[in-house]
Amino acid sequence: MHLNPFDLSGKVALVTGANTGLGQGMAIALAQAGADITLIGRSEPTETLKHIAETGVRAHSIRADLSNSDAVADIVAEAVSELGRADILVNNAGIIKRNEAIDFTPEEWDAVMNVNLRSLFFLSQAFARHLVTESKSGKIINIASMLTFQGGIRVPSYTASKSGVGGLTKALANEWAAHGINVNAIAPGYFATNNTAALQADKKRNAEILGRIPSGRWGKPSDMAGAIVFLASPASDYVQGVTLPVDGGWLSR
Ligand code: NAP
Repeated sequence: MHLNPFDLSGKVALVTGANTGLGQGMAIALAQAGADITLIGRSEPTETLKHIAETGVRAHSIRADLSNSDAVADIVAEAVSELGRADILVNNAGIIKRNEAIDFTPEEWDAVMNVNLRSLFFLSQAFARHLVTESKSGKIINIASMLTFQGGIRVPSYTASKSGVGGLTKALANEWAAHGINVNAIAPGYFATNNTAALQADKKRNAEILGRIPSGRWGKPSDMAGAIVFLASPASDYVQGVTLPVDGGWLSR
């Protein structure tokens, strides 16, 4: 029995896209729960490293552009060589392209699918191969979306990618649960980050969105803390293949 089932001391968490937004919020929460952190992304995560340092855990940062899934090849090996192990993978990096479906281009389609789904799968595969080879258990948490459940408007590749994340979360849980790997997802509702800057700036859409959120406000990156620590910790050892909404009640309407 764990005295504190949410304690992540001695674990190492890999978080993609953690220089800003939800990834930053989740990396800080995992550090506050005791995990050492490997930050993976294309921009230097200066601010996140500063916050993590304040918690007293160790951190390492890896530069990788996840628009090309070849970039995942060395990530797990580097994380293990720098911080000694890899126990938790948070697939957070993601992008969105907005355009009418009738005008949507192959470039807009591929750009989103490559980061949000293709690199997510191949990084998860590299991480699971490491755990299976070492006979170790682990946790994968994918960042999904309301558009894992709904269709959205003017974001066809984003909806396809995030619906894919929900399906893949279940498919990988089915295959990897037997190896002691939990694969789950979090579906954030509407959070105030760069990803939603266009929506926040659009007065009409902003009012429509706020009017439908029972909690009456946009989410903050720190609102992801409880869910990410739960799904990364022994508290969720028997939870498999779920996509947990953290949405202020959006889906209940
Ligand atoms: P954000 O502030 O735009 O952050 C996205 C992160 O992904 C950044 O760190 C970004 O790095 C990274 N990233 C993008 N393309 C990358 C690439 N090619 N290689 C490596 N890293 C890359 O957005 P966010 O709102 O925090 O989104 C985080 C995740 O939550 C995404 O998967 C998003 O779809 C999902 N989500 C967000 C909301 C919301 O309301 N905000 C709702 C549902 C789901 P750079 O800074 O270098 O671009």
